Amino acid sequence: MTESSRIRSDIDYDKRGKQVSHLAVPSSTNDSAYGTVTVPIAVFNHGTGPTFFITGGVHGDEYEGPVSLMNLIRELEAEQIEGRLIVIPCLNLPAVMSGNRCSPVDGLNMNRVFPGSRDGTITEIIAHYVCQVLLPMVDIQLDLHSGGNTLEYIPSMMMWSCPDPERRQRTFDAVRAFGAPISLVDQALDSSGILSTIFEQAGILNFGPELGGAGRVDPATIRITATGLRNLLKHFGMVEGDIETPESQGRPPSRLAEVADLENYVMAPDSGIYESFVDLWDVIDEGRPIGQVHYPDDLGKPPRITHAPRSGFLLCKRPPGQVKRGDNIAIIGQDLDLNKHGLR
Ligand SMILES: [Zn+2]
Repeated sequence: MTESSRIRSDIDYDKRGKQVSHLAVPSSTNDSAYGTVTVPIAVFNHGTGPTFFITGGVHGDEYEGPVSLMNLIRELEAEQIEGRLIVIPCLNLPAVMSGNRCSPVDGLNMNRVFPGSRDGTITEIIAHYVCQVLLPMVDIQLDLHSGGNTLEYIPSMMMWSCPDPERRQRTFDAVRAFGAPISLVDQALDSSGILSTIFEQAGILNFGPELGGAGRVDPATIRITATGLRNLLKHFGMVEGDIETPESQGRPPSRLAEVADLENYVMAPDSGIYESFVDLWDVIDEGRPIGQVHYPDDLGKPPRITHAPRSGFLLCKRPPGQVKRGDNIAIIGQDLDLNKHGLR
């Protein structure tokens, strides 16, 4: 229990061994006057090493992270770890339980509310706990995301291009160690209120994947994530063993890519039914038609064509056919310019 947060827990972060418990978040509702929402958490503490904080389920419709982390917690014992590993598979548990991006309790998108609020809504109280109680302990922060119900990514491990060159290179080395099909330096579409932004501002090594999406739990992606998580623990010296490269798993090497700027995010030009002409990995030339919006209630109105704003490859697409004007329908990636980012 800590005075700085209203969340209670029997977890002792300094205690040696493996603890699996929950964070009790106050939630007084019509159904439960003095109720709590119990967010599962696991802590592994053994030997000496960094504190590594891993989360999933910040968005409730992204299942690859929670599944991979629940598997990891079951399989891992404290004796295998050097350092401290804090894992919360479903940080926004109400959203995960409802299968929606945002919380059904307060309607909030958790990854827009950080650093949260001690006396706010349930999503804000959880975010506040992360920033007030956990962040001061953490050396490395990893937040697992995916495309959710409305986007599908090529499984990618991603980092922002942070201003500190030394930390930028260390982050890039960790991103590559994970061994996703894509290792990505991204441009944030909207960085305000995001979990990793808070850790970035605190100077803490941070990165996170977009693991797939389309509302699925794809077995190939789960295998990539399981190996990638082990690779990261090895990379940071927290688990013994050699890193399993994509090549050693029978996959092509990780493709180094970037999303250069916001032009790479293609939005639906109108509402209707979107027909994509391209699929993930497809090479796209600037100006090429990449899809069209149909008008099912008007056969006399020709479909509206969308053109690629620049050359690259299709990194992410929108699986649902229904679109509203302004929906993100595609993200175009380019090969990474190492010099531009000061990376090697
Ligand atoms: Zn997400």
